[in-house]
Amino acid sequence: MTQNIYQLTLPTPYAVGDVHVYIVKNDIITLIDAGVHTEEAWQAFNEQLKNIGLTPKDIDQVVLTHHHPDHIGLVGRLNHVQNIYGHSLVHKWLTRDEMYLDHYIQFFNDLYTKWGVPDQFQDIERALDYTLAFSTPSALTRYLNEGDQIPGLEGFLTLETPGHAESHLSFYNQDTNVLLAGDFLLKHISSNPLLEPPVNIGEERPKPLLRYRESMKRVLDYSFSTIYPGHGKVFSNHQPLIVDRIAKQEKRAFKVLDYISESPSTPYEICQYLFPKHYQSQFGLTMSETVGQLDYLCSIGELEQLSDGEVVRYTAAHPITSK
Ligand SMILES: [Zn+2]
Repeated sequence: MTQNIYQLTLPTPYAVGDVHVYIVKNDIITLIDAGVHTEEAWQAFNEQLKNIGLTPKDIDQVVLTHHHPDHIGLVGRLNHVQNIYGHSLVHKWLTRDEMYLDHYIQFFNDLYTKWGVPDQFQDIERALDYTLAFSTPSALTRYLNEGDQIPGLEGFLTLETPGHAESHLSFYNQDTNVLLAGDFLLKHISSNPLLEPPVNIGEERPKPLLRYRESMKRVLDYSFSTIYPGHGKVFSNHQPLIVDRIAKQEKRAFKVLDYISESPSTPYEICQYLFPKHYQSQFGLTMSETVGQLDYLCSIGELEQLSDGEVVRYTAAHPITSK
């Protein structure tokens, strides 16, 4: 670990396994991310803080990389903390902004209906309750944007790195080239770009895979020395990793295009084709991945959308030459 950065590893109830949070010790003590809200995680957090001579009360401020429950879960248990930083969207999740959450449910219900998803997969409210159960209500005290510095976290600049989450921020130290990456870059798995509603009702939906590609491409020129991720090993040498991830994604996109060239299909049908074994147990994740590929193929002019007023199908834009 770089001098003043300490990694704590907390259990989660998710398939991804453990999550890392980080303590950065300067004149003041910053916690990067806050694990998931379970008793096991809280205990592990306390024990590992003790190992580095701290208790939760010693934490002066919290910086959150994104709004997922395995990263914001325990914030509400750190009631004494005066400063909590993150993307403005994280605030909506921490405060459980009713308008936003209603809009979230409505958005997925409309979208899934349009995409030919059967009713059995449309219990968005239950999925949302499950998500909220693993975090604690809290609130941000300041929103961070691209380029922002954080008092007490000397040397670090905020980088907007959306894709895995619209709210995703990473923190880059210009002096040491260290990156606090959250789930933006992981060594052992590619981060899933997840579907989310637009922040404001009526705006166009974010395209998570396109956002993720842009975020990855923008850091190709950085020479990070050490990347501290939210899951898996601390690593370096991110350029070949990114080049490889992008190549694999494009390969998968063309597999999707081949399938659609045979017959126009709904996103639900394409999801079943891509993930025959997993689409039922991991519906949200596999739909996000599927639609990511469709968004990508539309962005390069290979696909078009056809609507019969009820259901949307995707069709190859150049059925003869694309194969
Ligand atoms: Zn995570």
